[in-house]
Amino acid sequence: SQVQIPKTMKAIQADKTGGPEVNVLREIPVPQPKDNEVLIKVQWTGVNYIDIYFRTGLYPKPSYPYTIGQDAVGTIVSLPPASSSSSNPSLKIGQKVYTTAGNAFAEYLVAPVDRVAVLPDDLKPEDAKDGVSMATQGLTALYLVKESYAIRKGDWVLVRAAAGGVGLILTQVTFGSSFNNASLHQDRFGLRLAKHLGANVIGTVSSSQKAEIVTQNGVDHVLLTTAPSEENVKKVLELTGGQGVHAVYDSVGKDTWDEDFEVVRRKGTVVSYGNASGAVPAFTLAKLTPKAVKITRPTLFAIVNTQQEWTEYTDELTDLTRNGVTKYAVHKVYDFTEEGVRQAQVDIEGRGTSGKLLIHVSD
Ligand code: NDP
Repeated sequence: SQVQIPKTMKAIQADKTGGPEVNVLREIPVPQPKDNEVLIKVQWTGVNYIDIYFRTGLYPKPSYPYTIGQDAVGTIVSLPPASSSSSNPSLKIGQKVYTTAGNAFAEYLVAPVDRVAVLPDDLKPEDAKDGVSMATQGLTALYLVKESYAIRKGDWVLVRAAAGGVGLILTQVTFGSSFNNASLHQDRFGLRLAKHLGANVIGTVSSSQKAEIVTQNGVDHVLLTTAPSEENVKKVLELTGGQGVHAVYDSVGKDTWDEDFEVVRRKGTVVSYGNASGAVPAFTLAKLTPKAVKITRPTLFAIVNTQQEWTEYTDELTDLTRNGVTKYAVHKVYDFTEEGVRQAQVDIEGRGTSGKLLIHVSD
């Protein structure tokens, strides 16, 4: 079936670093897929904190202007020539997919076939937007608990920004011990996975409203970042019999880096995977010595990199989603306009959001 593809499209671009005002709506050419790329008509795209790092220049962009955004849900409107699509032969025109290919705040985007995942076919059409959460944030939550620090039953873990996009998914996959009481996750597969991972989760958030959300999400112990650091460190040590946690999943960076080394236990792991408060300062290896701490600084692209890794991770996340183990909360849906995108960025930077901020690009 031949789909009519226009020559130009709307996209949100930035020409320079700066505040939310650098995001401008443009009419630009629809991108031309290369061999091994599909063209996707975007339905939903989502805000990720990394958009802020690119906007401010914390993560430099190689060239300007660029089209902002990481991930999207949409429909495949063109496939690569048969000879080059062999690495993902199951893709078809008209399929609803999600991708982490980037340039996502646009009506169309191109994606390599090995960065496209088909949405679970039993997902209701109104839940297609969940695919945006499954992309960057869902895959990140999954790799963190599988690879960056592989959780074992009974472990204690500290999850920073537990009410955020990644945080809400991560705490579901790790599951607090109150999981059995959580009405959200009552199917058999969910219980099995919970028993399998079975961590004791301590989450940090910056407001009592978020504390409530995180508690409902199954987290047993919530710390408010508005409390003095010494008090929170003391609570973590009390909860863990004086030992500290097996792992800290830290996406906050600069502000929490030193505290990570106080709450982590001997031979524990600090997973530093983001920097919402600013980049982690330079340090010497001597910082790790007293407790023989392991440290890792992963990024989704370096962990879920090959076709095989992409397939394994997206298949597992599809299973978790299909079985109701991971649910996806939407904070708010914003318009695909300059004002909509700027406001979404103001909101995520303002620390008042929980779950996914979505942009509705087309029906
Ligand atoms: P979130 O929805 O989690 O938003 C960021 C959260 O960080 C805020 O809600 C806020 O929660 C917390 N925060 C703490 N300090 C600050 C601060 N000074 N300014 C702003 N926010 C702050 O975003 P995402 O789910 O998109 O991403 C979460 C984190 O994970 C980000 O750091 C992101 O860069 C990282 N990430 C890393 C990946 C990787 O592979 N390495 C992939 C995907 C995401 P609170 O107010 O409750 O503290």
